[in-house]
Amino acid sequence: MKRQKQLYEGKSKIIFNTDDPDLVIQYFKDDASAFNGVKKGTIVDKGVINNHISAVIYRFLESKGIPTHYVEHMSDREQLTKKLDIIMVEVVLRNVVAGSLAKRMGRPEGEVLKNPILEFYYKDDDLGDPMINEYHIREFGLATDDEVQQLKDFGFKINDLLVEYFKERGIRLVDYKLEFGRHQGKILLGDEISPDGCRLWDLKTDEKLDKDRFRFNLGKVEEKYQEVYNLICGDAKI
Ligand code: UDP
Repeated sequence: MKRQKQLYEGKSKIIFNTDDPDLVIQYFKDDASAFNGVKKGTIVDKGVINNHISAVIYRFLESKGIPTHYVEHMSDREQLTKKLDIIMVEVVLRNVVAGSLAKRMGRPEGEVLKNPILEFYYKDDDLGDPMINEYHIREFGLATDDEVQQLKDFGFKINDLLVEYFKERGIRLVDYKLEFGRHQGKILLGDEISPDGCRLWDLKTDEKLDKDRFRFNLGKVEEKYQEVYNLICGDAKI
């Protein structure tokens, strides 16, 4: 499959059309951004690492019955995916208090949740991705009620699978963001799952292994991304 015209450039990926109108190529960049694009930088080889981590995780999820956009690995920075009509709702899953939840609820970071929390955010950079609920989604036509139900069902199922998957590999899955899209009448998991959009802590030491190292200048950013790569991709074939 050959790259055709660039369709879209985002903060961390470029999407290219292909000869097949149903398929696109996701190209993973090293560009890093945080706080809605206010902090910008580069994490060396992040694109290569995230491309591989995400491929391994999407293949795992597919093997457990979660429909995803992933088709195949193409190169170090490219993967072939199904072209989605992206649902403009970000689905965040949380297992441990951190980030905006800690602020919003005044709870200490690290508090373990008895049950996972699922949140919706309106995917709009200009507005800073505000938190929304199902009534906003319905009122402003972001998704149908049936689609919202699927986002919730897939979200919790993915969470059950991934908490266990990461735990087996020595990682605590604190929280993360998912995106979904429509493809030939079905809802598929899109985007990527990588240390860019997840909070991942070392299971034993609670050391941060994710983009919070970049956000808060904690150092060893590349080293910790590499560590996640080794833990996730070490025993996996691409
Ligand atoms: N997240 C993301 N993109 C966003 C917003 C959040 O990938 O636009 C991820 C983030 O990395 C974290 C989780 O979703 O793993 C929850 O983020 P939170 O609401 O705590 O916001 P933050 O404090 O990270 O801005």
